[in-house]
Amino acid sequence: MEINGRTRTCGLIGNPVEHTLSPIIHNTLAERMGHNLVYVPFPVEEGRVAEAVAGARALHLLGLNVTVPYKSEVIACLREIDALAQNIGAVNTLVECGGGYKGYNTDMEGLYRAMRSEGIRLEGESVILLGAGGAARAVAYLCVVKGAERVWMLNRTLEKARAVADEVNEKTGRDVICPMRMEDHHEIPAGRYLAIQGTSVGLAPRTEEAVIEDDSFYEKVYTGFDLIYNPWETRFMRLVAAHGGRAYNGLKMLLYQGVIAYELWNGVQVSEEDAQAVYDRMRERLGQTENPTDRA
Ligand code: NAP
Repeated sequence: MEINGRTRTCGLIGNPVEHTLSPIIHNTLAERMGHNLVYVPFPVEEGRVAEAVAGARALHLLGLNVTVPYKSEVIACLREIDALAQNIGAVNTLVECGGGYKGYNTDMEGLYRAMRSEGIRLEGESVILLGAGGAARAVAYLCVVKGAERVWMLNRTLEKARAVADEVNEKTGRDVICPMRMEDHHEIPAGRYLAIQGTSVGLAPRTEEAVIEDDSFYEKVYTGFDLIYNPWETRFMRLVAAHGGRAYNGLKMLLYQGVIAYELWNGVQVSEEDAQAVYDRMRERLGQTENPTDRA
């Protein structure tokens, strides 16, 4: 693509941003869809988010993604906020709107599209959600909004799971999230569960760890979805597969949160063919040729 006087710029603010895969998503889509757009990462120092957003506005940037640790802090810098992002309390996408930016959360809808693309449903499901951090909080909200019947939220720190459960149950008006201490997982009633791994345990370089090791836990899991994609196959995924379940990593969640941001910035619909082409490039960048589910 030729960069010229009409090229629009999008980017990512966060700290650190050096290892991001997001430029692959947006620059591949721009190339395939013929948009005059470039996407670049911008490292932002602690305490300078408001300056970064004001600078982006002054430079007329089309949009920004926001990553750790600024997804909540950036809310104070917005002109408008989407209702869903407001409820989750985290924004990962800024879209230019009259005189400022409107904040969205595409992480959650990205996870939902990723699950649907693998044939995983949340409607009427019994879900075990591991973790109660920023990502798990958004997943809990997603599960309730999409009609999960019951969500067992397991966390090392029970108080955090309780706080998230109370908040999500209250905001959605449904009593679906049940908080539980991680080591009490054997108290979950017998059944077949969709398990979503939302803790940071197992993330590279500590790839030989899973937040739960017990066989009795994995016997209840028919599908495991890990939000982590580095390593490509986490220990959690291996344990799910070893007990006969299907296991997925978080790369498609990352893909679709980017696809949805791209759609918001450009007012377009990205085809599944283009999304797949982006996914293949991300996989190549991670040095992977095989889908984790191919062996499940
Ligand atoms: P976070 O807010 O820091 O939360 C971390 C969670 O992990 C908490 O529930 C924490 O429990 C738990 N945890 C950490 N160390 C633990 C340990 N040693 N034993 C047991 N539990 C432990 O992080 P986050 O932003 O939610 O991210 C969580 C994961 O999701 C990360 O691995 C991240 O890479 C991934 N993620 C993926 C995507 C994607 O697009 N695929 C998007 C967002 C996040 P306590 O509450 O007890 O501390």
